[in-house]
Amino acid sequence: MIITLRSALRRRKLHCPKCDFATRARYDRRPVESVWCHLDLGVWRLQVRAQLRRLNCPDHGVRTEGVPFARAGSRHITDLEDLVGYLATQMDKTAICRLARVNWDTVGRMITRVMETGLDPTRLENLFEIGVDEVGWRKASST
Ligand SMILES: [Zn+2]
Repeated sequence: MIITLRSALRRRKLHCPKCDFATRARYDRRPVESVWCHLDLGVWRLQVRAQLRRLNCPDHGVRTEGVPFARAGSRHITDLEDLVGYLATQMDKTAICRLARVNWDTVGRMITRVMETGLDPTRLENLFEIGVDEVGWRKASST
């Protein structure tokens, strides 16, 4: 059973999904609804549907407006992608595929999007020393 949530965006300004550009000028309206997979609610699958508008960004051209609950180019809401990103640190990819009901390639793309937005780009700025220890796989030779 699939439950559909229809979302009406109340924002007056349209936001470019690739940058911070925002405008009130609408290029046109998409003729079809956009659909995002939500986290499952028990045995029910949830989908979010919305009728989106398009805008003309000076840097990126005509784009479908960005939404606050999903990353650009994704068909899954941010919470589901964050969950998959966390699970990728704890379990194997096949188990994630079964649990989140997404295919193998989608898990990889979700992890990429989570890492692009979730990692602090300045995390290595104060790093001044790295220690690397060798790992021996064979018995050391006696010389
Ligand atoms: Zn843009």
